[in-house]
Amino acid sequence: MPELPEVESVRLGLEKHLIGGQILSFHQLHPRALSDLSLTPLHHLENFTISAVKRRGKYLWFEFAQPESPLDITLLCHLGMSGQFRIISLPEMSSRKDSEAKDLQFFGDLNVKHPRAVARVSNKGTRSLLIFNDQRTFGWLRVDQLVDGYPQSMSHIAPDLFDPDFNEAEFIKKVRASKSEAKRVLLDQHRISGIGNIYADESLWRAKIHPMKPASQLSSNQWRTLLQAAREVLEKAISAGGTSFDSLYVNVNGESGYFENSLQVYGRENTECARCARLITRIKFTNRSSHLCPHCQRYQQA
Ligand SMILES: [Zn+2]
Repeated sequence: MPELPEVESVRLGLEKHLIGGQILSFHQLHPRALSDLSLTPLHHLENFTISAVKRRGKYLWFEFAQPESPLDITLLCHLGMSGQFRIISLPEMSSRKDSEAKDLQFFGDLNVKHPRAVARVSNKGTRSLLIFNDQRTFGWLRVDQLVDGYPQSMSHIAPDLFDPDFNEAEFIKKVRASKSEAKRVLLDQHRISGIGNIYADESLWRAKIHPMKPASQLSSNQWRTLLQAAREVLEKAISAGGTSFDSLYVNVNGESGYFENSLQVYGRENTECARCARLITRIKFTNRSSHLCPHCQRYQQA
């Protein structure tokens, strides 16, 4: 499932190729591609010019230059389990006549697997297809309204670790007063966003903290260490283009990330811990697998 580094890698690709681009047409190809909460169908975005692609946690959204619109319209996206954005250049056209039909024929000939929506975008004299693919159909697109710089329907999502709005002192104070465990806190998108199962396990290993340790029993210093570990893991993963552990994640050019080569515990049960050479184990927690080094991450600290 894409987490912050994968979504950020996708965002960087979208930003690089699409800023300044005008949406020529936008076609929904599957009923689940559009969220029930969408303010309008996707074709409402035709003729909009993309001015920014932003991200908070695992959500990303497109902003538009739209001087005459009464609402500040945005397109909010969640990749779910397997959502992908791909950008593919369209062949040059001798005339604009029939270009939509020809472009859609070109798209059909690509035989893309699991396409859910496709937009034609014109940018600086070139044209491309923006394709949203999603094998498992948990991802979605939603036309939404920007309120104070954020899509209205994601106002319940907490800032992520790179967000200027993330208040570390306030966060630590709240989680130390909670009844939650360390890993559950990291996964709670209402407290801190962007971290899923892979990067929670990696961060806890790096900070030498047991995933089931009660948040209230960790000192403020241990929490600062854990957040710093998470920041470092996420930064390294972004540099590596994300983790393509289940091979469903690719960037806008269809390339996999290579952070799975740097994973220390996730998916590595029965291999040696890089720190102490004891075997990594896997336990069930919060209905998921947690991977840890039972020696480095002792529940009771010595
Ligand atoms: Zn170890």
